[in-house]
Amino acid sequence: MTDIVLFVFVLAAGLIIGSFLNVCIYRIPRGESVAFPASHCPSCDRPLRWFENVPVVSWLVLRGRCRTCRTVIPASYPLVEAVTGAVFAGAFLVYGPTPLLAVRLLFACALIVLFMIDLRHQILPNIITVPGTLVGFGLSFLLEPGWSSSLLGLLIGGIFPLLVAEGYLRLRGREGMGMGDVKMLAMVGAFLGWPLVWICLLLACVLGILVGGGGLLLTRRAMATRIPFGTFIAVAALAALFVGEPMTHSYESALNSYVEWVSR
Ligand SMILES: [Zn+2]
Repeated sequence: MTDIVLFVFVLAAGLIIGSFLNVCIYRIPRGESVAFPASHCPSCDRPLRWFENVPVVSWLVLRGRCRTCRTVIPASYPLVEAVTGAVFAGAFLVYGPTPLLAVRLLFACALIVLFMIDLRHQILPNIITVPGTLVGFGLSFLLEPGWSSSLLGLLIGGIFPLLVAEGYLRLRGREGMGMGDVKMLAMVGAFLGWPLVWICLLLACVLGILVGGGGLLLTRRAMATRIPFGTFIAVAALAALFVGEPMTHSYESALNSYVEWVSR
């Protein structure tokens, strides 16, 4: 019974925090404070009442428009809230009520914000990725993946893509990956450790190729250049957060049995 109560609590917390992430997504690229002033309509500046701030529900009740100026509120608002709620609930099922859950949720929030900002503005703000990397590394002294795995992950995330980007630049004469992507991958490595940052890198590239290739087939236009790579990193890192752990374990056991077989 207490488990169900906890689950509902975590889900509700996810929805409410998702509403705060919307504020971050709107204000961080504009260089505004995320704490002040309180939520207001960006069009008519009227502060929002409490019943206009209920995650997902308010948007549905108001039919996606501001109550006074009738400006359209983008569907991304309730979507971000719903996704954050779902991620919180899902992570609770995977990690249970542990300190690691709190750390992974903090990381997931950063990923959701980076996803939306990169999609809209094609930037990955340093104000998220740089402190994010430091916090991820700092917390690894207390919890998984441990400081050595975190440091290695940070270096792989920060150096490997840099080499790929440099190679791409020399080969093709244009930039394939920005410094923002590199810092974001360093943050992923710091939080998830070295085996999972590889999985994240691999998944992000596969996603990029699939979406870019699929878009090319459907619209006959190169889409990969228009969808920023940070969005793929965010989706891949979220996937690694949920399924990466069992994946690395099966990889390790496969490697171990191979080593056993060879040394026989
Ligand atoms: Zn308004």
